[in-house]
Formats: sequence, C-alpha cells, structure tokens
Amino acid sequence: DALDVPQSRDSISVTIRFRPLSNREYQKGDEVAWYADGEKIVRNEYNPATAYAFDRVFGPHSTSDEVYDVAAKPVVKAAMEGVNGTVFAYGVTSSGKTYTMHGDQNCPGIIPLAIKDVFSIIQDTPGREFLLRVSYLEIYNEVINDLLDPTGQNLRVREDAQGTYVEGIKEEVVLSPGHALSFIAAGEEHRHVGSNNFNLLSSRSHTIFTLMIESSAHGEDYDGVIFSQLNLIDLAGSESSKTETTGLRRKEGSYINKSLLTLGTVIGKLSEGKASHVPYRDSKLTRLLQSSLSGHGHVSLICTVTPASSNMEESHNTLKFASRAK
Ligand code: ADP
Ligand code: MG
Repeated sequence: DALDVPQSRDSISVTIRFRPLSNREYQKGDEVAWYADGEKIVRNEYNPATAYAFDRVFGPHSTSDEVYDVAAKPVVKAAMEGVNGTVFAYGVTSSGKTYTMHGDQNCPGIIPLAIKDVFSIIQDTPGREFLLRVSYLEIYNEVINDLLDPTGQNLRVREDAQGTYVEGIKEEVVLSPGHALSFIAAGEEHRHVGSNNFNLLSSRSHTIFTLMIESSAHGEDYDGVIFSQLNLIDLAGSESSKTETTGLRRKEGSYINKSLLTLGTVIGKLSEGKASHVPYRDSKLTRLLQSSLSGHGHVSLICTVTPASSNMEESHNTLKFASRAK
C-alpha cells in the first residue's frame, strides 16, 4: 500500500538518491531491488505492493549537478537572501552520503557546488557587500569537536537573542571558492579517526560545514545587515547498531540512533507545522541547528540508498525515515 504523503511545509523537501549497484555488490550476486518509477515512486520489484512517494527520486544515472539543482540550489539562493538553510545527507554507510555532499575530483558534490554558487551570486549582486565565514565541526558520541581547530573539543551549544550557536567555534573568513574548500580539506585532517579504518570511523560522526553569510546594500541603499546561515551536513551512517559486537561500536551506534531519531522527530513536527514541543534539546545535532530549522528556515533532506537486494531492510528503514519527514 502506497504511503500517503500529507501536504508538507513548503520549506521542507525530501529527495531520494539511488546510487548504482557497486562492483562489490554485483560480485556478491546482489541484484537491483529498487527502481525509480517516473522519478516519483520507488518500488520494490519483489513486492510491488510496497511503494513510497517523495518530492523527487533520483535513479542511479543521476548526476550530483541534477541533485544539487533540485535539493540544494533553492536553499542556497534563499540563504543568500537572508533565510537560514540546512541540507542533510541521510543514509546507511556506503549508500552515497559523502559522494553526494562532497563528491570526488571528477564529480563535485553539493558542498563544492554550493560554494561555487555562493560566489557567483556575489558576482551577480554588485549592489551588495558580502562577508562570508565558514566553520566545520563534527559531532561524535554527542561531543562537538571543531574540525578547524584541534584544540576546540567538547564545545557547548549556547543561546542568545540571535539564537543557538556553538561557543568558541572557529570561524574563518573566506574570499574565494578555493579558499573555502581549503578549510574543508584542513578539517578532514582533524576528523575523529581512532583506528586504521577511516571509512568506517568517518561514518560514525555527523559533520557540519556552515557558511555564515552577512550582507548589506551599499551607500544610500543601506538598510542594515542581513545574516543567515547555510548548514551542509554529512550525517553518520543510519544503519541499525543491533548487531554490533564491541562495546564501543554499540555505544557509538546508540548515540547515532538516538540523534537520528530525534532529527526525524524534529523534521516531522516541523513539516506538520507544529511549532511547539519540538524536541530540539534531545540531541546536540538538533540543538545546535535549532535556529536554522525553526522559523522560516529551509530544510532539504537527501536520503541516499543502495539498490542492492541484500540491503533491502536498511533501505526500507531509510525510506521510512524519509516518509516520516514529509
Ligand atoms: P557514505 O558516505 O554514505 O558512507 P560514500 O559516499 O562513501 O557512502 O559512497 C560509497 C561508494 O559508492 C563510494 O565509492 C562512492 O564513490 C560510490 N558512490 C556513491 N554514490 C554514488 C553515485 N550516485 N554514483 C556513483 N558512485 C557512487
Ligand atoms: Mg561517508
């Protein structure tokens, strides 16, 4: 039975991106179990009764440019006009979150595409003066660490009249796309990596790259400074931690599951238009994003999925999370 998708708050969009079957999956004998039907419905071939509907569904041949145009460009544009925006990549480990947000040398992802867009909007807006700053942080086991400053560990979320913020976080002024990207590269060096498996560990933390955008009109047109924040987030892997065997893995897993559960609840409440009893404080992630998510802030959730038949159950979980967010 197709899930009913209620009318949503306009400023929340949910996108699904299927990646191609990987060589590894193919060699294991995996088959493609999901497909994008008319870019609208995702169906399980083996059980056509199960169907989900979303704003957009991107199939395995989609490019990050296409995903950017639909799932991020409107958020970036609004942020340049003073409206807070947040783009999340949600999905299990190796479903394509980092590919979608960061991309690789050949195919830049949403973060580099957003940075490029921001600087081209500045070029096209000669009547305004812009000041751009970036920060980059990670949340690991509910602890906030500054990726631009290795001494900035276990930072606190505070609130003032302007909203929630991370106390003591390093903010760097950026003057060009390359300059902004250089801070991401520097930040990656400071990721929480405790063992030899970077990929595994990198998927145990959320990373938040934030662009703080300030602008004002020149001279006689001056009417004050507008400020907004654009958060670009690569979430920790959403896989269930039930099968984890070591204590550390289980602990990480339970922190991740709790914060992703809270995120789902918060976005669900916002999309239903419920402003009260939104449990921002139940996780560091939602608490530090509170000012961006509440009010008129734009939210774009991109859920990445592998089409592999062996991952059916986790893929179902991702689609359920996505449909709860609508
Ligand atoms: P995650 O960050 O969710 O753990 P990754 O982004 O690292 O997953 O993706 C896992 C692998 O799949 C990487 O080798 C990546 O290059 C590849 N991949 C992911 N999404 C796509 C896609 N849409 N097209 C082609 N390759 C992809
Ligand atoms: Mg990743």
